[in-house]
Amino acid sequence: MVSEADAPFRSYYRGAGSASDGTQLSERNRRANNRGARIARVAIAGGSLGGLTAALLLRDLGLDVTVYERSPAELEQRGAGIGFLPASYRYLVERAGRSLDAISVATSHIRYLARSGEIIHDLEHSYRFSAWNTVYRELLAHFGRERYRLGHEMVSFEAQADHVAVTMADGRRDHVDLLVCADGVASRSRRHLLPDVHARYAGYVAWRGIVPERSLDASTRKALDDAITYFVYANSHILVYPIPGADGSIEPGERLMNFVWYRNYLEGEDLGTLLTDANGLRHETSLPPGAAQPAQVADLRATAAARLPPQIADVVLAVDAPFVQVIYDIEVSRMAFGRVCLIGDAAWVARPHAAAGTAKAGADAWTLAEALDAHGSVPEALAAWEPGQLELGRQLVERARRIGCRSQVDGTWRPGDPELILGLYGPGR
Ligand SMILES: Cc1cc2nc3c(=O)[nH]c(=O)nc-3n(C[C@H](O)[C@H](O)[C@H](O)COP(=O)(O)OP(=O)(O)OC[C@H]3O[C@@H](n4cnc5c(N)ncnc54)[C@H](O)[C@@H]3O)c2cc1C
Repeated sequence: MVSEADAPFRSYYRGAGSASDGTQLSERNRRANNRGARIARVAIAGGSLGGLTAALLLRDLGLDVTVYERSPAELEQRGAGIGFLPASYRYLVERAGRSLDAISVATSHIRYLARSGEIIHDLEHSYRFSAWNTVYRELLAHFGRERYRLGHEMVSFEAQADHVAVTMADGRRDHVDLLVCADGVASRSRRHLLPDVHARYAGYVAWRGIVPERSLDASTRKALDDAITYFVYANSHILVYPIPGADGSIEPGERLMNFVWYRNYLEGEDLGTLLTDANGLRHETSLPPGAAQPAQVADLRATAAARLPPQIADVVLAVDAPFVQVIYDIEVSRMAFGRVCLIGDAAWVARPHAAAGTAKAGADAWTLAEALDAHGSVPEALAAWEPGQLELGRQLVERARRIGCRSQVDGTWRPGDPELILGLYGPGR
């Protein structure tokens, strides 16, 4: 049933329709304004890849969207490479008119190396890889900066039957018809809406780093080119793949080489020491580049030299400032709360072994836009949207946990196992 309070929202976007051309919708939006119609207002808390994708899609529906991002400056150097699945690039390719070749690197092999450096498994399989910064830059350029509010940390919200009142750290308030919480792994919104949900430490972290391809020697470049390259050993694995350069360049030689190395740390003192930076400050979910204690970096390098195939060790040893991300499982029972919803890592957090985190955030945003387009009121739309995204999150978390346990605990990860193919909806899908 559509309440009186929902009527303006319905009447507006019913009129706007779901055309894929944002310009036409803006034009209709302008006409609706000229007629004095009220345009439904949306706040997005969190301006990373999930929040920006949702913002673009909801704006394309003709809604009045503002993104509130806590960081005072545009986000840079957050993460490094990303496995780039269709739901991660769908907006940029389908709506923003970007060519996939311009924003990602294509590889055509999955390789496993032995400790000696010899290839022990080689499967022809196409993947796309991009850089977090490339994707962020593209999405932000398309959204524009006018309604992208940096330095706006949402500290609370109150949901009423006909609106949501959102409050920022500096006391500013906004009243909106829909609040989309895309505030990431440490989501304050999740804590408020689902106080019993806690992040569960997976027992390991990812050490990560990037290095200009040009700085590696020719034989290392040749060995790692055109592939995602793995090395699996007792309770650990590392993978290496090429990504666009800092300026977005995808030309061989101008790109970056990216590594992700999963290493076990016992919860408690072991993990606490790792996450305490060189200045004695304890971090929670990650350590930024340059923050790790020199002794930890020295240990990483010594283990690389002693344990890894020479081509992969070369990459790790060439990285100046490796950084750390702690691996968690987060499972939620709800994503829709009347006029408020959780998307991306603010809802489920899966271990990264399917390379599907940004794809899941993208899929949450696409299905949210479809539901808003199809239903008469925000609460109806969110209620219809929620079950499919809960199921997607549940399946991804379960699959990624199984894969992670096989590598980090059970020692049953075998090169060539089809379950290890990256994908959001299942291996290779
Ligand atoms: C080791 C590792 C490897 C990964 N590899 C891949 C991969 O290959 N492919 C892939 O697709 N994904 C990968 N991921 C996952 C991916 O990084 C995340 O799933 C993705 O970044 C989630 O995006 P998001 O927009 O939901 O959240 P985030 O990127 O975490 O963004 C949340 C944003 O909200 C802002 N924020 C937080 N609180 C507030 C507040 N109160 N008010 C306003 N703003 C706020 C933050 O500043 C941040 O900008 C990997 C993750 C890890 C840890």
